[in-house]
Amino acid sequence: MATIRALGLLSGGLDSILATRLLMEQGIEVECVNFYTGFCVQGHTSAIRNQKPGKEPPRHDALYAAQQLGIKLHIEDISEDYVRIVTNPKYGYGKNLNPCLDCKVFMVQKAWEMKQKMGFDFLFTGEVVGERPMSQRKDTMPLIEREADVKGWLLRPLCAHVLPETEPEKQGMVDRSKLHGITGRSRKPQFALAEQLGIKEYPTPAGGCCFLTDENYARRLQDLWTQRGTKVYSMEDILLLKAGRQLRPLPDVKVIVGRDQSENNFLQGFRQGRIAVRAKDLPGPLALVEGELDEAAVHLVCRLVARFGKGKNSPEVTMEVEKSGTIEAFTVAPLPPEELPESWYI
Ligand code: SF4
Repeated sequence: MATIRALGLLSGGLDSILATRLLMEQGIEVECVNFYTGFCVQGHTSAIRNQKPGKEPPRHDALYAAQQLGIKLHIEDISEDYVRIVTNPKYGYGKNLNPCLDCKVFMVQKAWEMKQKMGFDFLFTGEVVGERPMSQRKDTMPLIEREADVKGWLLRPLCAHVLPETEPEKQGMVDRSKLHGITGRSRKPQFALAEQLGIKEYPTPAGGCCFLTDENYARRLQDLWTQRGTKVYSMEDILLLKAGRQLRPLPDVKVIVGRDQSENNFLQGFRQGRIAVRAKDLPGPLALVEGELDEAAVHLVCRLVARFGKGKNSPEVTMEVEKSGTIEAFTVAPLPPEELPESWYI
């Protein structure tokens, strides 16, 4: 019999590792794909923040899992097309700005295109019925298949027993009796299965992988859209939303303040088209300003940025304000904590 080839969606979390292993155990040749949406936590956070001494830099879970599994991993950048999923999701958002249902449909569609092009027999995911409120419900799983138009060719090995039989099962490509019927939010069955399969290394379930599910990030993205009066974003926007303290001291003025040297370096790369503010002759953060500054606003922003530097308790600090290559200096009194309202934080 010809080798059966399956393409899986691999996040690198335990569920997708287990699903992959279950099929490998059946002698199926497996390759996986990991999609880059622009909102993936991994890679960016480690690049932006200082590393704690002695702590290993965060790894890319999908790459690591693929290496451990000994399979080929395709990393596909879908960030350009993904804009329309985030800005206009047919099935709306989850708790924050996560359009999980539309996202899953889109990823399965993309994986289906790869399957057709690369000659895989079927697709699979590590989804579990009832594990997530939006995309992994018993009623939404068939919807994903229908919307993605994959006609019974999407297998979920971890919960196959509670779902209708798929084509690969019907056609004998996969032994259904060796699949599982895991449901619900408890992770115990997955831990037990990992133990049984000798899988020891996997990321903690609490580690989120998508910024869109993060409350703080979603608030910043919403602020960006509200400010622009339209739901648009560029790759530069969504990267910058991940960095620094972000404050809006005036309706049209946003200030991004680096929290450590690594973030200051990161912000350096985004100076073009923005106003850069930092203390002259004193250690302190680099701040980038979006918006136009009149005299009063420059003064306010300088006081605000001075508040986060070494001179915060000095009566006066000289700040440098750079716009389009021209630097001006302003001597200001750093803003005292009581004059910095919580409502400025985005
Ligand atoms: S958490 Fe993010 S990547 Fe995962 S399905 Fe939801 S929107 Fe997509």
